[in-house]
Amino acid sequence: EQELGSTTMEQQTLTRDRVQVKLLANINLLGEIALARRLNAEGIGLYRTEFPFLIRSSFPSEAEQYHIYKRLFDEAGAMSVNFRTLDAGGEKTLAYSNLPKEANPELGLKSIRFSLEHRDLFESQIRAILRAAAGKKNVGIMFPLVSSIDEFIEAKQIVLDCMETLCQESLEFNDSIKTGVMVELPCVIETIDAFAREADFFSIGTNDLIQYMLGADRANPMVADYYIPHHPAVNKGIAKIASAARNHGIEVTVCGEMAHEPKHIPFLLGVGIRSLSVDPRFLPRVQQTVMGLSMEDAEKYAGKMLAQTRVSSAKQVLDSWDPAPR
Ligand code: PEP
Ligand code: MG
Repeated sequence: EQELGSTTMEQQTLTRDRVQVKLLANINLLGEIALARRLNAEGIGLYRTEFPFLIRSSFPSEAEQYHIYKRLFDEAGAMSVNFRTLDAGGEKTLAYSNLPKEANPELGLKSIRFSLEHRDLFESQIRAILRAAAGKKNVGIMFPLVSSIDEFIEAKQIVLDCMETLCQESLEFNDSIKTGVMVELPCVIETIDAFAREADFFSIGTNDLIQYMLGADRANPMVADYYIPHHPAVNKGIAKIASAARNHGIEVTVCGEMAHEPKHIPFLLGVGIRSLSVDPRFLPRVQQTVMGLSMEDAEKYAGKMLAQTRVSSAKQVLDSWDPAPR
């Protein structure tokens, strides 16, 4: 952190052939925003809202959430902000939620499913976000672990309903907030065009996408060898999401761990990703990586990667990328 404090970054991030890439920050705690700002992050690509829920002994009220989000905007200044609604369940259990224990929590009542089952709670969060974002530009709300277009439409409708009630209550709120889908489940990729028609933006959560695509628990060291970011199915999935977003003219960001790995960045850019959201401490390294490559090389490399069907040959292509600027 001390070392990063003195690190400087360029305002804009361009590849050697001058293609612009947006660098955003993943924020868990408000205290991390200062570093993101110091390092010139263009925005907060992922604000994980669950932390205030995890540290309390009961659900935070709408007023409590509102105050936290107001502080977030104070800290964020002119940066854009994408809120991810509560990603509860799975490994992030809320002790006070009194839900029965699930045999397979990662396949259970979590994330957007949890929010849709607990409508009051969900509405209190949406209302707090909408109210705190009053008068702000470039604010988004995205939903974690969406599994169907119906679910996304239902969540979006709740946002609209909350706007209507806030209006009736004569409370100030943001009426131009964008709504996005976190692409974290393989089923979304199969109907990605329908999602691109409904959503204002995509955010690819590769941590979960890889876990659910390959059936390998992201946190279990016993299957770490099966959790393969360069797996041909993962590569093709990411490429498909990026091209659907491009065809429909919506923004797509990668916000999983892959986005900060220098060895995966050429592939992501090569398939058309132009926005990466990473833990703030990785921003300088990501910027150096992007500035050291040419998009032309990245595109050729991604094409070669997408032609692979074996994990072993994909690994060879991965290891063949020459990061040294020529
Ligand atoms: C992801 O799944 O890639 C992601 C960014 O969300 P989280 O790591 O919080 O599940
Ligand atoms: Mg996730």
